[in-house]
Amino acid sequence: MELNHTHDACRRSWLDSANASGCDFPLQNLPLGIFRRTGSGEAWRGGVAIGDQILDLAALHDTGCLRDLAAEATRAAAAPTLNALLDLGPSAWRALRHGVFALLEAGGVHERQVRGTLVPQAAAEFAVPVRIGDYTDFYTSLDHAVNCCRQFGLEVNPNFDWLPVAYHGRVSSIGVSGQQVYRPMGQYRPDPGGAPVHGPCQRLDYELEVGAVIGIGNERGTPIPLARAQQHIFGLCLLNDWSARDIQAWEMQPLGPFLAKNFATTLSPWIVTLEALLPYRASWTRAPERPQPLDYLRSAQNEAAGAFDIQLGVSIRSARQLAQDLQPRTLTRTSFRHQHWTLGQMIAHHTMGGCNLQGGDLLGSGTISGPSPGEAGALIELTVSGTQPVDIGNGEQRGFLEDGDTVVFRGWCERQDYARIGFGVNHATVLPAPTCA
Ligand code: CA
Repeated sequence: MELNHTHDACRRSWLDSANASGCDFPLQNLPLGIFRRTGSGEAWRGGVAIGDQILDLAALHDTGCLRDLAAEATRAAAAPTLNALLDLGPSAWRALRHGVFALLEAGGVHERQVRGTLVPQAAAEFAVPVRIGDYTDFYTSLDHAVNCCRQFGLEVNPNFDWLPVAYHGRVSSIGVSGQQVYRPMGQYRPDPGGAPVHGPCQRLDYELEVGAVIGIGNERGTPIPLARAQQHIFGLCLLNDWSARDIQAWEMQPLGPFLAKNFATTLSPWIVTLEALLPYRASWTRAPERPQPLDYLRSAQNEAAGAFDIQLGVSIRSARQLAQDLQPRTLTRTSFRHQHWTLGQMIAHHTMGGCNLQGGDLLGSGTISGPSPGEAGALIELTVSGTQPVDIGNGEQRGFLEDGDTVVFRGWCERQDYARIGFGVNHATVLPAPTCA
């Protein structure tokens, strides 16, 4: 994939809201999601975000404005999940992007017909955009690992420099932005030396992550080499890996996360395609004093452009802030470019043993924390396990999350001479623990 006219910052849409300064969804972005009009009972179908509107791909297909491969891609994307579009492969994803770009650009000859297919984002509800087969969550921020280990007087495990650590996660509880998240019940030990108790989690946390949607998988027994790994990604979204810290501390002895992570994961509704993200790739380097990766996790291309400079922000909006119409303070600002491993390296390692990825699989990047104190991607780091609560904007303090809190992630890319593109918002709200019958 190479930069092309769809990345040209000078191109404008005939839709005014797409040209507004600070808009997440200008002509150069064109992310895909699954939507319907709120409360309508309509069929779920694919859409493309443009300005404050959604281009309805089912309606667009019916207009006949697109031809050939772009038309085939539109028909596939008109379904209730994007999986059929993923199956068509990169040439179809590209044809769809380029076809939609031409239709939405100022001067597009079918403006009147295309206008008739727009649905306001404010009038829509969203679904998880792909039928996810498998979900793997990584642990790839060295800053996150160091911050967490330091609290417990531990060193980061030696394997951290050598392989992208991960566990296989839970798909059934993955939801889309707007998800209501019940505070999980579980076992934990209030007294680290005593017996465990059973009750609502007391240390509920979020993890700021980027989600990668696999577009094209691999045959079992045929690993994906690092050189081709990025070609297997359809696009990226924002991912909240909800985490129950007290349950996690007790149950992760000796295996990985279980009830501490399986109750909910929240995705942003829009998947920003890899082609849209091309201008914002970044170099990836390792501090020279740390071990360098083994050969299969190393390539010049990965070092030149294997990372993505995605700007990220986190805030918590309490029930009181919502009731008083107060906006929360941004607690964290960081970038995805700081990760210790790239998405390409995660894919190359994931498949190295012969495991087959499939279109629609989801990879979580692991918590994204940067090198300075204001860049912590989870409360356990930001508040030092709750011992140093933070002001969320109106004087309310948080060590961990309270019922009624809404966790809000934002993500966007900016680079000189290129358009600003955004991921939209990933927000989800904590509900009290369910009562057992
Ligand atoms: Ca995680």
